[in-house]
Amino acid sequence: MLHGQMMQTPLLISGLIEHADRHHPDVEIVSRRVEGDVHRTTYRDLHRRARQVANAIGGLGIKPGERVATLAWNGYRHLELYFGVSGSGSALHTLNPRLIAEQIAWIINDAEDQALFFDLTFLPIIEGIASHCKSVRHWVAMIDKEKMPASSKVNLLCYEDLLAAASDHFAWPQFDENTASSMCYTSGTTGHPKGVLYSHRSTVLHSMAAALPDALNLSARDCILPVVPMFHVNAWGLPYVAPMVGAKLVFPGGALDGKSLFDLFEAEKVTCSAGVPTVWQGLLAHTEANNLRFSTMRRTVIGGSACPPSMLRLFQEKYGVQVLHAWGMTEMSPLGTVSTFKGKHDALSAEQRLALQYKQGRAIFGVDMKIVDADGQDLPWDGKAFGDLLVRGPWIVDRYFKQADSPLRTDAGGQGWFPTGDVATIDADGFMQITDRSKDVIKSGGEWISSIDIENVAVSHPAVAMAACIAARHPKWDERPLLVVVRKPNAQITREQLLAHYEGKVARWQVPDDVVFVDAIPLGATGKMLKTRLREQFKDYRLPGA
Ligand code: AMP
Repeated sequence: MLHGQMMQTPLLISGLIEHADRHHPDVEIVSRRVEGDVHRTTYRDLHRRARQVANAIGGLGIKPGERVATLAWNGYRHLELYFGVSGSGSALHTLNPRLIAEQIAWIINDAEDQALFFDLTFLPIIEGIASHCKSVRHWVAMIDKEKMPASSKVNLLCYEDLLAAASDHFAWPQFDENTASSMCYTSGTTGHPKGVLYSHRSTVLHSMAAALPDALNLSARDCILPVVPMFHVNAWGLPYVAPMVGAKLVFPGGALDGKSLFDLFEAEKVTCSAGVPTVWQGLLAHTEANNLRFSTMRRTVIGGSACPPSMLRLFQEKYGVQVLHAWGMTEMSPLGTVSTFKGKHDALSAEQRLALQYKQGRAIFGVDMKIVDADGQDLPWDGKAFGDLLVRGPWIVDRYFKQADSPLRTDAGGQGWFPTGDVATIDADGFMQITDRSKDVIKSGGEWISSIDIENVAVSHPAVAMAACIAARHPKWDERPLLVVVRKPNAQITREQLLAHYEGKVARWQVPDDVVFVDAIPLGATGKMLKTRLREQFKDYRLPGA
């Protein structure tokens, strides 16, 4: 072998903020704060305060390799921790405040977090769990001295005091790019959540790939508002991509309702956003009800669960906002595929192009994927055969934190693949489409029914706000689809009308056996419908005729 003779500069997260400071010092970071106001800073100032964070956590006795947790909204202080903590060699552990308190405490103990930085909104959670979290030595409220809360239960430190006392002289240490940088736990709908430990290398490579034109297509001309929380797989990498490309960042804080988001989009001239479908439902309900239009928004990334075709159409055809349907998972940093066209697709009709966008899309470079049958044999890329989706690549998990057993499956060639738990097809152009989460597929008499397909038809009806399709037990067919539906406010629709809406849209045998109208569908901690809860709720449901 002949060695290449290029520099071995490590790929480090500190490099991202150094680059932004040097090349985009005046680009703004705008945050709606828990204080109730809108705060403005720049990459230069963010870098300065990130160095203060590095000194401050050193002063608290946090050593490289130790975990520092956050329980915080999207905002500039959270971003300072992203760079200050990881940049100094510790691992930033973003906790999801929407989990129940016991689960948060369990995760903190598993990760052995040494310090926890939190937004004031979450003080009640902190007071509830602090005595159960033995590893945490410092509880830091991300606020200034004047607004520091009094707590009889927890000894609190003040974030702004810590920073004010810390020098902004700090030289980012250079270390192995495989060092752990941050950590996220899987949503853990079954069993305990599992920790995924990202590295500096995986994060920087993921950012580079995410920014590519056929991925999220981000540049110094963009103004990005990540609605997806910084505690949900690092806001899909956007807090790293934005300084890499020099894009303006806008953070919504805790105000995620349709009106607050729309007002912020307009006030800050946001060009690009990202979030799960349930968030966009709220935003679109607001724009529809008030006859509003986006004046600067050009595209939005939708992922986390399947983007319903009716939402995709509405965004693109009425609002002129391009939808980038994307797929990924916590174990993948998260980005795996994005649905963007190839040159040859210019020749397609509008309907054919939409059909491609409904798919979760093509693998970005770095992500290798395949579908296999029950015996692990490769399935053809014909857009029809469906099977377990397996992936591999430099930003895909190899092992879970503290777990001895490898989650990977080894193929005949000795390559390790991560089983995603998703069932998918891949077409000849490499467009992957998720049929279902393997545990959500409805197995009716040996045939599979995609719950996603059934839900998409339901939400295309104008009276339907949200729909979940789950398997109900059936004596003859094992499982049959049951549709759980939330009506739009003041909308009328009957079971019969909704079932009639399926005619010609899916095969007869795939039409749900029954419809149940409910006030709300339970959502999980990342805004996805909690089908496990629904299945539990309807486990004794008797289908008509069963
Ligand atoms: P999480 O790790 O919580 O982000 O969840 C990852 C899972 O969300 C994936 O394995 C998929 O089942 C689902 N998911 C993510 N994006 C999509 C999408 N665009 N369409 C359908 N399912 C998705």
